[in-house]
Amino acid sequence: TAATHTTTTLGTPTGNAAPLLPVVGHDTLVPLVDGRQVAYSNLDVAASAPALESVAERVAETLPLYASVHRGAGYLSQVSTALYEASRRAIGEFVGARDDDLTLVTRNTTDSLNLLAGCVPTDPDTGAAGRVLVLDVEHHANLLPWQRDTDATVLTGAASVAGTLAQVRDELAAAVAENRPYALLAVTGASNVTGESLPLAELVATAHEHGARIVLDGAQLVPHRRISLADTGVDYLAFSGHKTYAPYGAGALVGRRDWLDAGTPYLAGGGAVRRVRADRTDWHDGPARHEAGSPNVIGAVALAAACEALAALDPAEVRAHEGALRGRLVDGLEAIDRVSVVRVWADAVDPVGVVTFTVAGYDPGLVAAYLSAEHGIGVRDGRFCAHPLLGRLGFDAGAVRASVGVGTAGEEVDRLVAAVRALVTDGP
Ligand code: PLP
Repeated sequence: TAATHTTTTLGTPTGNAAPLLPVVGHDTLVPLVDGRQVAYSNLDVAASAPALESVAERVAETLPLYASVHRGAGYLSQVSTALYEASRRAIGEFVGARDDDLTLVTRNTTDSLNLLAGCVPTDPDTGAAGRVLVLDVEHHANLLPWQRDTDATVLTGAASVAGTLAQVRDELAAAVAENRPYALLAVTGASNVTGESLPLAELVATAHEHGARIVLDGAQLVPHRRISLADTGVDYLAFSGHKTYAPYGAGALVGRRDWLDAGTPYLAGGGAVRRVRADRTDWHDGPARHEAGSPNVIGAVALAAACEALAALDPAEVRAHEGALRGRLVDGLEAIDRVSVVRVWADAVDPVGVVTFTVAGYDPGLVAAYLSAEHGIGVRDGRFCAHPLLGRLGFDAGAVRASVGVGTAGEEVDRLVAAVRALVTDGP
């Protein structure tokens, strides 16, 4: 094909923005269809972000210290146990956990939200499942656990085409004020489709005013913005290590302990129990209650290392870096004929670095395959585990998503824009 492989400089004011933190794998060469090799450009960090170099180093340092956690008497067992518990504290501190909050090490955001869904108290009078209010813009991870395990109401106006956040806020406020109380309001911290965020302070106030708690799906927020449970009043926060520049396998659920201490243990097994008899089991409370089985020490250490590295950055610098990259991406894409960038709320401010777009006349799968095969650029296509939102926006056939973070360079964004322009101009 006539695709160009050179880097195009758009001449935007940000210049060739260098990554804020080094990540592993940025120099990986990948083969193109024409047989050449190019440095891989990972513009799919919203799905899984590459690990920070400092995280990879911490993992390498910790592997030799690996021994059984919590139950072993040996020296390395004690070291591993101390590392695991210190990591738990660091993860909680990073998100501003209150003194009495629990920090549970889970597998990922999906795991955290499923765990919490099993702990939403039943109605004290009727014993019926707790009521949870959720918007139809959510990732399936913040929708299906509530649908399956609680009495969920899904508000369908939230993704109204050309809607505003003011409408969403009003719709939520009206729903929360209904006579039958909600136990929980479950909302996204930042959309995995558009990067847009809801007005958090207002939602917390609305929920609390009506006696409901609020859980934030922080999968896309935590890697990009500092969030503090103590400062915002958010009751529970779920997030994933593999989106927060740590490897797969560890995530967190942080929040108020009473529901977690009273909830059915998430997994039944060793470590979660005080005493087991043939006919009865006394369960622990605290984190151990929900963390049966041998814990993911290395995953927790890696996630804590990522949290520490992000905490050391100036949040304003992260916002500026990612905001400039996002702006450069959106401007570049919108300047191309036939390309449209997806937005949900006209009044959304300060979106994180997630940009979804369509190219009229081209199937999203083809666009993504072309970007990979011809340009060595990794993006995501499909419906992003947000079927209700994509359907409501009219994208049942899916769209293409590019995402940036602290490890992304300005030239990668330029490379994507040039590649999409080449596709539209010259064809695949
Ligand atoms: N919530 C949002 C907003 C997401 O973007 C994702 C992942 O794409 C998830 C939840 C689920 O995260 P995980 O696959 O790590 O459980």
